Amino acid sequence: MLTIYNSLTQKKETFTPLEKNKVKIYVCGPTVYDFAHIGNARTYAAFDVVIRYLRWRGFDVTYVRNITDIDDKIIKRANENKEDFTAVVNRFTQAIHEDFSALGLLEPNHEPTATGYIPNMLRMIEKLIASDHAYVASNGDVYYNVRHCKHYGELSHRDIEQLESGARVEINDVKRDPLDFVLWKLAKPGEPHWSSPWGEGRPGWHIECSAMSTDLLGDHFDIHGGGKDLIFPHHENEIAQSEAATGKKFVNTWMHAGYLQMDKEKMSKSLGNFLTIRDLLAKHKPEVLRFFLITKHYRSPLQYSEEIIQQSENALTRFYTALRDLPKADAPNDSEFEKKFIEAMDDDFNAPIAFAVLFDLAHEIQRLREKDIQAAAKLGALLKKLGGVLAILQDDPEKFLQSGTLDIDAKKIEALIQARNDARARKDWAEADKIRKSLAEMSVVLEDGSGKTTWKVDKS
Ligand code: AMP
Ligand code: ZN
Repeated sequence: MLTIYNSLTQKKETFTPLEKNKVKIYVCGPTVYDFAHIGNARTYAAFDVVIRYLRWRGFDVTYVRNITDIDDKIIKRANENKEDFTAVVNRFTQAIHEDFSALGLLEPNHEPTATGYIPNMLRMIEKLIASDHAYVASNGDVYYNVRHCKHYGELSHRDIEQLESGARVEINDVKRDPLDFVLWKLAKPGEPHWSSPWGEGRPGWHIECSAMSTDLLGDHFDIHGGGKDLIFPHHENEIAQSEAATGKKFVNTWMHAGYLQMDKEKMSKSLGNFLTIRDLLAKHKPEVLRFFLITKHYRSPLQYSEEIIQQSENALTRFYTALRDLPKADAPNDSEFEKKFIEAMDDDFNAPIAFAVLFDLAHEIQRLREKDIQAAAKLGALLKKLGGVLAILQDDPEKFLQSGTLDIDAKKIEALIQARNDARARKDWAEADKIRKSLAEMSVVLEDGSGKTTWKVDKS
């Protein structure tokens, strides 16, 4: 039985998809005007684990993640660079794809773009105007009429009056109500624009996700997700528009990932306290970064620091040390470890507990290794299988352990080890010892096994 915390009801609920064994999930995608930062990566890695786990549990998952390819920030960046907005969009879409793929994030089944969905958005806006859920303001822009929406505030758990008191009232505001939000805005000179019944313009941000998700997944679907910052106003507005336009319930389960924080503050472009995925991939192995992003519970805040990344590296080193030098074997069919792993992940994707199970497994492998290598090998196969569910531990253990730093020269190390073995064969202990010391200076630790010397990088 799988339970998922639903932000809408603020409870863990038994998950029952609308259609048996099928899951339809929409995750709000990136706005492509710059490189993605590791805060963005946190949210997408969280959903990557959700989707991988659901598939592993036998669900047929349709995963949609859009690309916001028109927006104020994109236009601003294009103007600064004196280039067309599509050039900015293409460049960063490609960069984000590369970064996501390096982190092992699955490609979505559909990756719609906002500009590819203008006709759908126009149809939805027309419906909203016809039913008085939207209006054309005196400046020609189209707004959603929040006062007309009975459930407004149900996701962010605030009532309309409370939200109202916090809303920013702008001078010369053309809105009927400060909470009303724009569905279509008329283009200013020089801005990208599309034709509409209300004049040349472009869509607001919220309407794009309603149009894309309902088109690709149906008016009513299972899961909608994003980072916590999207609860209000983005997701609240999506519910309001979609339900008003379709007359149906929009989404059953709302899932939100916690913030990645730096010095206790949310990492964000606007605060300027951000590190891009690329910054970190230049210093760390992709698997280390992925591990760091997924080991905490997806709803908890995740602190970034170099020390914590180093801890992730150490943890993976422990796992790969357990996996090295094991004979081929099949994972046991029925294992307490696997049961506990499933129990943890079934409980709202409780990764910290699932990882604790994997650590126990690694410990048990090391304990058994000397006594019963076959039993250890079976558990090794299980560790690799369960790691595979989370898309970690699939590398060759030797390769992982030998590449402690990204610029380590494996060939040089192998040559030194060979020279040391030759020295030992000649019984030239002084030379052998000298070589061991110079390897130690490179943080390379040797382990002389039966007939073979293995090595790893240990910076601790
Ligand atoms: P954006 O490109 O700004 O629309 O953000 C893309 C996704 O990243 C959204 O789901 C955000 O909620 C999420 N996000 C942005 N900053 C953070 C952060 N510091 N921690 C976790 N998720 C974040
Ligand atoms: Zn969205």
